[in-house]
Amino acid sequence: MKIAKVVVDIPASQINRIFDYSIPDHMQALIEVGMRVIVPFGSRTIMGYVLELTDHSDVKTLKPIQSLMDFVPILTEELVELGKWLAKDTMSFYISAFQAMLPQALKAEYHKLIHRLTTAPLSDSLEQVFAGRDYIDFSEVEASSVPLSELKQLLNDGDIEIIYSVKRRDAIKKQTFVKKICTSAQLDEYAAGLSNQAKKRKLLVEFLHELNQPMLLNTFLKKMQTTRQTIKPLIEHQLIELVEEEVYREPYDDTQIERTQPLQLKEQQLNALLAINQAFDQRNHEVFVLHGVTGSGKTEVYLQAIDHVMKQGKEAIVLVPEISLTPQMVNRFKGRFGKDVAVMHSALSKGERFDEWRKVHRKEVKVVVGARSAIFAPFENLGLIIIDEEHEASYKQEDHPRYHAKDVAIKRAKYHQCPVILGSATPTLETYARAKKGVYQLLEMPDRSNLSAMPQVEVVDMREELHSGNRTMFSTKLIEGIKERLDKNEQIVLFLNRRGYSTFVMCRDCGQVIECPHCDISLTYHQKQNRLKCHYCDYYEQVPHQCPSCESDTIRYFGTGTQKVEESLNKLIPEARIIRMDVDTTTKKGSHEMLLTKFAKKQADILLGTQMIAKGLDFPDVTLVGVLAADSLFNLPDFRASERTFQLITQVSGRAGRHHLAGEVIVQSYTPEHYSIEYAKNYDYQGFFAKEMAIRKAFQYPPYFYLTLITVSHPNRYQAEEVTRTISQLLYKHLSKQAKILGPTPSPIERIKNRYRFQCMIKYKYEPYQRNVLARILQYYEDMMRKEDLMIQIDLQPYQLM
Ligand code: ADP
Ligand code: ZN
Ligand code: ZN
Repeated sequence: MKIAKVVVDIPASQINRIFDYSIPDHMQALIEVGMRVIVPFGSRTIMGYVLELTDHSDVKTLKPIQSLMDFVPILTEELVELGKWLAKDTMSFYISAFQAMLPQALKAEYHKLIHRLTTAPLSDSLEQVFAGRDYIDFSEVEASSVPLSELKQLLNDGDIEIIYSVKRRDAIKKQTFVKKICTSAQLDEYAAGLSNQAKKRKLLVEFLHELNQPMLLNTFLKKMQTTRQTIKPLIEHQLIELVEEEVYREPYDDTQIERTQPLQLKEQQLNALLAINQAFDQRNHEVFVLHGVTGSGKTEVYLQAIDHVMKQGKEAIVLVPEISLTPQMVNRFKGRFGKDVAVMHSALSKGERFDEWRKVHRKEVKVVVGARSAIFAPFENLGLIIIDEEHEASYKQEDHPRYHAKDVAIKRAKYHQCPVILGSATPTLETYARAKKGVYQLLEMPDRSNLSAMPQVEVVDMREELHSGNRTMFSTKLIEGIKERLDKNEQIVLFLNRRGYSTFVMCRDCGQVIECPHCDISLTYHQKQNRLKCHYCDYYEQVPHQCPSCESDTIRYFGTGTQKVEESLNKLIPEARIIRMDVDTTTKKGSHEMLLTKFAKKQADILLGTQMIAKGLDFPDVTLVGVLAADSLFNLPDFRASERTFQLITQVSGRAGRHHLAGEVIVQSYTPEHYSIEYAKNYDYQGFFAKEMAIRKAFQYPPYFYLTLITVSHPNRYQAEEVTRTISQLLYKHLSKQAKILGPTPSPIERIKNRYRFQCMIKYKYEPYQRNVLARILQYYEDMMRKEDLMIQIDLQPYQLM
């Protein structure tokens, strides 16, 4: 094969093609599909992925590949095809699709260097920057006082050249080990020659007698309480040597995790497991919906299904939402499968993530537990894909490529002919409807595995609290409940929905709310820095003492951020020890785990938090769960608001009374009569499903209709609206008469970062040409996007309608 088809590392619409390069002779034997290469592109060199090897090209003169970055392909042939499909399906650039599949560390880093060609003296200031070197980074000149015009002159005269270099980031971690390279006799001989003063070295020799495996140098030195200097003679006498070896950055200490054995399954679990195993045995890419109440033992079913698959030499991927990928969750998999498990999620460092990926790539593990992007784990013998909490919106990626992990899972399962499990206590309407129609296979687990009752849910009407004079954010019922638990030394989880409930600043005189000057959204108060921040751009300002509009000094914070809840709780129940978990307290790596461990060790009574604490946590002494404001979700312009409320209350309720102690849930609401709260209170998934389906049908939303959301943004409001109008008209003209085109309408947040935003929504049942039509529209606006700062976003499965 003489020609490689390569997708290059530039995400731009004009370059979203596959380019041909010739393969130099010396690479012929080495190059394979799925490798990274460095190729010339225009005046630069960039990284690319080899997608195909061939002998034919329609292009007459081809540039040669400059070098290979890999000796082993980093993308399997399956993943190469999957990437192409993903790009088409989500209308993204090829390169974005492939980048999404690989760890950050495998992406290239580019450097612009200046190469000095002349020995003649340059200007003083430039000589200072070069400081005797032949190559310097371009940024060094930019940071200096040297005018760029001077560089340009030198460039024209041939005194310097600009070089673009591709740097690898996939640093493999190496550590130094001490290795014994002599016999015991040689050790004895050496010891005999030592003077009596050399006590330390005698001890060292003693220790070396016992050292049969290479030992980490640092450990060795620590153990022997000695220095590198002292062991030098041992190296000179060729008794030991220092060797560098590749090591993994291990984010989890496996030795601390207790191994577990499969549990004796309950009947409902056994039925589910048998169905799944059967599909696997028959190489059937069936999609199972495992609908089991919280505590029904879904995880045990996953574990035993994986076990079955592993026994046949196959591999499994388990997706877990980012926020529930807690050490507790990880331990359940590591506890069962030990070193066969790799863990992938964004809280790991880049290096750790790369190492976990390499374990999969080198076939050293059989199971991956990870967040969304783990769906791309480069296994070649997949036997099972599990998506736990399948209703979670975080499985959808919100920027290029806008993919849903569920679609990728089903695609991969087809290729590998293996089953998929979608597990949840509250499956999405889309999923459950498909299961009811028989497209997916439904597995029901209606009972908790320990047969403990679901906790009693009580809904408190906060309007009545207000009428009876309670102006705090806690109902009398909740405060009494908390105090009662404190007396009994039991624990409490308080849940506050972050979205829609941040703290804003308002003037009580004129009602002015302080907004971001660049976005149409109110600023949020952050107590720690005493600042107002925008959550959509980087803007922040100091908290004003006076209203900027009427100069009144009655400016106040409103809303209930977690900080504010903590403060008032401290006032009401000063003796309660509170752990607050939100974005502010968990930014540092490991802080999430640390806080949870603290709570588990009962060093706190109340765990107060946002979404983060709604999932997966299992603390035996938690007997009360409070939801502070259940309706904060309704006020969002989102047809899934009711569904999310139902899911949330159900999930949160599942945190209470999971063990021998009975649990209670108190839900505070300003609209307690809302059906999603009613059904959640009664744990009535079927009732909720029926009611919500009827509403979706009436308003033509999924699962009855598919949606496509097109968001247009431009610094000029008129332009944004005009383009959206034209797009709506084009869609109306070119899609079928059944498609419903809504728009142009201003987006719910009309301005972000000084860009005006308009949207157009397509509701449809069957539009096989939709992607072609949209692609042509993008093409039509290509010039305007490049030159006039127009942006068009297409989301073929929108979850965020803002
Ligand atoms: P889910 O994932 O459905 O919420 P879990 O898998 O967390 O449920 O199970 C809840 C609890 O029940 C866990 O403590 C688990 O160890 C226990 N459990 C699950 N299956 C069994 C079983 N067959 N026998 C005994 N205990 C079980
Ligand atoms: Zn802003
Ligand atoms: Zn005012």
